[in-house]
Amino acid sequence: MQVLGREVGHIRSEEQHREGRARALQPLAQIAFALVHDRAILAQPVGEGLPPGAGRAQFRSQAGGTNDRQRAFGQAAVERGGACGPERRDQPGLGPAGLGIAGKEDDARMAHREALRASGGPAHRALATLGGGLLAFAAAVLFAAERRRPLRAQTQAEPRRVVRNLALGAMSMAVIRLIETPLVTPLAERARARRRGLVQYLPGREWLGDAAAFLLMDYTIYLWHVATHRVPFLWRFHLVHHVDLDLDSTTALRFHAADMAISAPYRAAQVALIGVSPRALMVWQNWFFLSVLFHHSNLRLPLRWERMLARVLTTPRMHGIHHSTVRQETDSNWSSGLALWDHLHGTFRLDVPQRAIAIGVPAYRDPRETRLGPALRLPFVRQRDAWAPQPTEPPVPLARSPAETREEDAPPP
Ligand SMILES: [Zn+2]
Repeated sequence: MQVLGREVGHIRSEEQHREGRARALQPLAQIAFALVHDRAILAQPVGEGLPPGAGRAQFRSQAGGTNDRQRAFGQAAVERGGACGPERRDQPGLGPAGLGIAGKEDDARMAHREALRASGGPAHRALATLGGGLLAFAAAVLFAAERRRPLRAQTQAEPRRVVRNLALGAMSMAVIRLIETPLVTPLAERARARRRGLVQYLPGREWLGDAAAFLLMDYTIYLWHVATHRVPFLWRFHLVHHVDLDLDSTTALRFHAADMAISAPYRAAQVALIGVSPRALMVWQNWFFLSVLFHHSNLRLPLRWERMLARVLTTPRMHGIHHSTVRQETDSNWSSGLALWDHLHGTFRLDVPQRAIAIGVPAYRDPRETRLGPALRLPFVRQRDAWAPQPTEPPVPLARSPAETREEDAPPP
């Protein structure tokens, strides 16, 4: 009896183990699914394939379908609470009928459609427009302020460089809208509705989970930034951002469109595995955009303020050091939001005077190579050793003497 008991216990724990593993892999399966089917599903009009006026009662009757497979799917969905969660069921025109019958594929379709619906409501659109307007206003204020109080002397002709960075930025934004947003929005909806992802297991109030999600998003972006420098394939694309020979708020937009496409699956993995709710995602996205604009800016803040801010946030002087031609300096200040991660990892630096910094990458100092065409081609051509200077190019500091690594607050000459 005892042996049998032990065996039953063993089988159960095996099953539990398998179940746990399947559950752990589920977010990855969701991402893969979203990647493959996203465009097709989004192309369908909202409500297509869902019977008009379909409701819970109809769903239940369909759940008792005509064959075993239908019954099993239907029953499983009913047990999950209609698969949609109560808040979804209450949304008019978004009846879950048929969901249990068609199984997981329709599950994902519904999440996508819900995302479309959420982004299509007039109130949501008004809020998004207002948020977008505020971000654009903040960018314009920063653009003007950094020209009134510059931190580093600019080396490139102004209108051309700005136009080029804005053009690259527009392409990147388009890719974010076309690929990243449709990918991550349904995953965030799903995380909240189904309580999937790391922070969704946290006890306590919802805002605590959102705060944890915010911190984890910020930290995993730190890790991603390190990866974009360390992994040669990712560096090809991130290089386009680093070859800018000046650093200001327009550099914050200077990313290769393919860089945004490559980072979209990573962003999806962050959202799915962390379990970021739509609210936490919106807060983090706005915060991240503002932070990126701010720390790329060429705005001279009083050194005392900046030292205080750098305990918490990524600041312009911190990021100026990250864009230096001196490799040891580039390999620091990886944070893009909270500076906490650099403090924790010992990668924080604020000991280089900004006037001693040459912005850029040693192997790409020819201004012609930073133009739009070469920048777009850069990831796809043969790569140079980024840290070896080209013989034809003007000398740039590749190392710094200890005497030079002294913080100063003198305005640029
Ligand atoms: Zn970087």
